[in-house]
Amino acid sequence: MKIIMLGAPGAGKGTQAKKIAAKYNIPHISTGDIFRANIKNGTELGKKAKTYMDQGLLVPDELVVDLVVDRLNQDDCKEGYVLDGFPRTIPQAEALDGALGKLGQKVDFAIDVDVPDENIIHRMGGRRACVGCGATYHLEHAPTKVEGICDMCGQELILRDDDKPETVKKRLGVYHEQTKPLINYYTTAGILKTVDGTVDIEDVFQAIVNILGE
Ligand code: ADP
Ligand code: ADP
Ligand code: ZN
Repeated sequence: MKIIMLGAPGAGKGTQAKKIAAKYNIPHISTGDIFRANIKNGTELGKKAKTYMDQGLLVPDELVVDLVVDRLNQDDCKEGYVLDGFPRTIPQAEALDGALGKLGQKVDFAIDVDVPDENIIHRMGGRRACVGCGATYHLEHAPTKVEGICDMCGQELILRDDDKPETVKKRLGVYHEQTKPLINYYTTAGILKTVDGTVDIEDVFQAIVNILGE
């Protein structure tokens, strides 16, 4: 099963993608996580990506596409995957279709987690990320057992630099301009499924399971 998660920054793509990956036993591939790991390790790619990410801008397509296509060609992707944060532009979607088409494959579902902009600013202010493993929490909606400490690895939680309100506003603008057109793209392809992302995490997941099947 090949799944794409669509939605604004903070809509809950990552939260749901992790749950999908666990239930259907497929890898969760997050381009944001890949870039953050590269930044942490000080790679050339990380250095390049950081200049865009810090400004709330998208990393250029040419730095993203090959990276994702290489990842999808790895062995663990044979049975499918859930892509979180890719594609984010029409050229990325076309590149993905092209790469899959060569292998006689296609995307099965594009799931749009729909959350209005007003909710997003609040969501992002409460999002906390682990400096160690990248796990994501929310102060109110998905709290850790011990405040400020990751449940998974015990390291410290931070507010991501790009989750500060000014950058979130910028990222929302970028989303509307460059990523939202993908809704039409996948509607035309006949695989778009929309879920209400404003309800509880478990209820959003149930709506997704209803689409994907038990
Ligand atoms: P969120 O899910 O909160 O939108 P991500 O972790 O997916 O954030 O992405 C963080 C940043 O990484 C983005 O703002 C962007 O700069 C960069 N990024 C991630 N995925 C892509 C992509 N497919 N194309 C371009 N830039 C990307
Ligand atoms: P994205 O990957 O789309 O940027 P995340 O999955 O990181 O979004 O979620 C953004 C923030 O909102 C996180 O702090 C997360 O814990 C929280 N969150 C996710 N889904 C919900 C929900 N249905 N209701 C309330 N908060 C949520
Ligand atoms: Zn952690």
